[in-house]
Amino acid sequence: MKNLHARVCFSAHGRYHNIRYNSSGCYEYDVVVIGGGIIGTAIAKTIKEKIQQKKVALLEKESDLALYQSSHNSQVIHAGIHYRVDSLKAKLCAEGSNLIYRYCESRNIPVKKCGKLIIATTCLDKFRLNQLYKLGLQNKVYGLELLNNWKKVESIQPNCKGLLALWSPNSGNVDWKNVTQSFANDFKAKHGDIFFNCRVNSIKESTKPSHPLMIAESTNCKVFFAKYAVICLGVHSGTLIQYSKQNDYKNISLQVSYYYLNPKLHRFIKTNIYAMPHIDMPFIGVHLSPTVDDKILLGPNAVPILQLDGYKQSSFDFEYVKDHVLSKGFGLLFLKNFQSCLNQVLEKILSDVRTSTLNKYFPMLSKNDILPGPTAVQGQIVTNDGEFVDDFLIEIFGDEGIQKRIINCRFVPSPGATCSLAIAEMIYAEIAKKLT
Ligand SMILES: Cc1cc2nc3c(=O)[nH]c(=O)nc-3n(C[C@H](O)[C@H](O)[C@H](O)COP(=O)(O)OP(=O)(O)OC[C@H]3O[C@@H](n4cnc5c(N)ncnc54)[C@H](O)[C@@H]3O)c2cc1C
Repeated sequence: MKNLHARVCFSAHGRYHNIRYNSSGCYEYDVVVIGGGIIGTAIAKTIKEKIQQKKVALLEKESDLALYQSSHNSQVIHAGIHYRVDSLKAKLCAEGSNLIYRYCESRNIPVKKCGKLIIATTCLDKFRLNQLYKLGLQNKVYGLELLNNWKKVESIQPNCKGLLALWSPNSGNVDWKNVTQSFANDFKAKHGDIFFNCRVNSIKESTKPSHPLMIAESTNCKVFFAKYAVICLGVHSGTLIQYSKQNDYKNISLQVSYYYLNPKLHRFIKTNIYAMPHIDMPFIGVHLSPTVDDKILLGPNAVPILQLDGYKQSSFDFEYVKDHVLSKGFGLLFLKNFQSCLNQVLEKILSDVRTSTLNKYFPMLSKNDILPGPTAVQGQIVTNDGEFVDDFLIEIFGDEGIQKRIINCRFVPSPGATCSLAIAEMIYAEIAKKLT
């Protein structure tokens, strides 16, 4: 199996004896994409646009697209600074941000290309920021500049505080739900089919040689026969595939709290202001981000939760807690990152701690300027050794059985939205080898 991050063996599972077969309930497609977030929608659009004569369907369990991660995020177009040089993230972010800027321009989607400052406030941070600068240069991030002269920083973003800053003019902001909707419009314009309220619960081998995959959904008992399938389920990415014990990574979810800045201070924020990425948990980064609808997002702060897509405080799923939260991998991870987890909990519950964290970069904020904002859920994947998987994990065509016909976007965290078109191009290239 060709796996772009790690070798994983899987087989499909699920029961289908209770599915009703009838002529209106069965569909045939060349490619079925499962999951209508930004990743699935970008992939469906790209495949359909490039091989128009093929039949492509997008299946989404909700009644609209992008209701989860793709609409609950920081709304940043990342430039690709801090990803390991040989990683998929580094490669696809540079490529993806260019594609997104061009796409948004072509569709008149509002974008704020206001750049990003990463600020060091301690000597250790200064050392790390220098390293980050070198990494950014290796990743060929456009226009990156290390600003030793604070007057230069002040000219970009007045009223911020620090010792050293890294300036990335190519970072920006966009509403990713808006982008997803536009991808869907392109897909429909090319006669791609979108099925809503369509929760897929199994993929099995069919008895039809022309369409060897049988994809069953539970909401309306529809059955889709396909030649190839691409799975893009966000935090549910591990659920349609059964993994071997050795590769049985655990999907865990964190509840992410954002805040809004008091509107009376909006005029002071000119760019994205980021703290140094967290050492143990680089996916958590304090930041102030101007959105395209003229708000300033603050945050985020992240704590583990008890349900895979637990947007509500009270969300609880016994199976998830038993299989994932109480797993060895998660236990080890928690012990290794105990201090960071504790800090995150303190920031969540104590507004003074939250304010003082933000004050390190932007001193003019007071407690009353930090208003409640949206909640998001961030998926992470943890190995059995208690480590976070830190790159995209995209499993491409296995060696045997129906595995040969499935691509699973197992883990597409930030900067996934920025990379969506680049990921879609990569997956299209794999599918095209088989279909044409
Ligand atoms: C807090 C946070 C901040 C982020 N900030 C940024 C940022 O600033 N910039 C950036 O580039 N990226 C960011 N990201 C990353 C980005 O949001 C994700 O990479 C991207 O949204 C992932 O899209 P997706 O389509 O894989 O997942 P999702 O958007 O979660 O979509 C998955 C879809 O699959 C559907 N689904 C699930 N199970 C089934 C099933 N059985 N049958 C049918 N459908 C199903 C769901 O309903 C959902 O619509 C952030 C992520 C988070 C969580």
